[in-house]
Formats: sequence, C-alpha cells, structure tokens
Amino acid sequence: MTVAVLIIEDEAEVRSLVQATLERAGYRVIAAEDGPSGFRSFYEARPDLVLMDVRLPVMDGWALLDRMREVSEIPIIMLTALTTENDTVRGLKGGADDYISKPFRTAELLARCEAVLRRSSGPANRELVFEDAILKMDFQGLEVRLEGRPLALSPQEFRLLATLVRNADRVMSVAKLTETVWGSESGNRENLRMYISYLRKKLKDGSGRFNIIETIRGFGYRYRGSGG
Ligand code: CA
Repeated sequence: MTVAVLIIEDEAEVRSLVQATLERAGYRVIAAEDGPSGFRSFYEARPDLVLMDVRLPVMDGWALLDRMREVSEIPIIMLTALTTENDTVRGLKGGADDYISKPFRTAELLARCEAVLRRSSGPANRELVFEDAILKMDFQGLEVRLEGRPLALSPQEFRLLATLVRNADRVMSVAKLTETVWGSESGNRENLRMYISYLRKKLKDGSGRFNIIETIRGFGYRYRGSGG
C-alpha cells in the first residue's frame, strides 16, 4: 500500500522540493500551503505522515500540531528554521515525532520519514513507560527520572536513551543507534560517542554507584540498568 504524506509549507520552493523528493521515493504526496487548508487535507486525505513547517500563515505549525494531536497519533515531523534546542524540545513535547531544520538534504528528509514511520508501526512503540530500580522513562510525556528525580535531556539524548532502554540487556550496534537517533548510518560514530558520554555524565554512570550503559568494544552499547 502506498504511504501518503501530507506536506504543509507556505514556501513554494521547499514545498515542491519535498513533494518531488517524496514522490520519487514512492510516496503519495498531498500538499497544502497554509494551516487551515492543511488541517482540511489532514481530515480528508487521512495521511500516514505529516510534515509541516513551523511558520505558516493564518495558523502556525504549533497550533496545527495541537489540533492534530487532539485527534490523532500519526507521525508528525516539524520543519523548522529555528534551530535552538528549546524549539526542538517544544516540538517534541508538543507531540511532534521529529523535527528537520531547514535547509536540509533530501537524503536526510527521506531517512527521517522512514525512521518515524518505522517507529510508529514497530511493536516496541506500544510500551509507553519504562521503569526499573534506577530509571523511569515516559516515552509519551518525554520525561525521565533518575532515582525519582527529574532529569533534563536534550532530544538527541532522550532518543538515544529511549532506544537503549527499549532494548535493555540487548547489545545495540553503533549503526543501529545512529540510525535511530539521527536517521542516518553514516558519519555519526563520533557524535554517538559524544552523546553517550553526555548521557553517562547526566546519569552519573560509571561513578561507581551506577554502571548502566555498557560499552561493547568494537560493536556498540548495552543498557544494563539495575540488573547488571
Ligand atoms: Ca514558512
């Protein structure tokens, strides 16, 4: 079955680039250029995925996201020219599944679309909360607690930790982790190493008290949690 993607973007150039890219990749694309017509298409065309710009005339992307989330759990990716982390967190907390900052490469656009579609249909997605003796993660509310205390994570750190705990006790390869977190397998090994170290710092991992994230040399990482 053809996957239908709704693109809501007022800039004609970006809109046609997205449309052409997705159509070449075999998606059916419905295009809208402002909030109200986007919302109408959302109802009428019943897309499998929504891509929308944050800055739209009449009704902006955040308002549109709220209204869509009231009625639907379908994957939504925000397109944004605002690259500060706060806006990203706002998007993810507001119920967006991912964001893509403009300008973007078409390969990245496709990879992100595939990743959210895969996540939204995967069986691992059904668990809404993970909890063990040390850590609690609310995947929908995007909240993390370490020994009961709230922990502030960036979106990348959250995605990385979520992937690890959803596969607790399983070794996750570097390729698999970078693909899940960044939507691409190439060139992100260093990034991954950096984010693992951020996470460990925030989780006080390796401090002697905890040993939560285990490095499997030459292969990847494993979440061991309190069982390890
Ligand atoms: Ca715009």
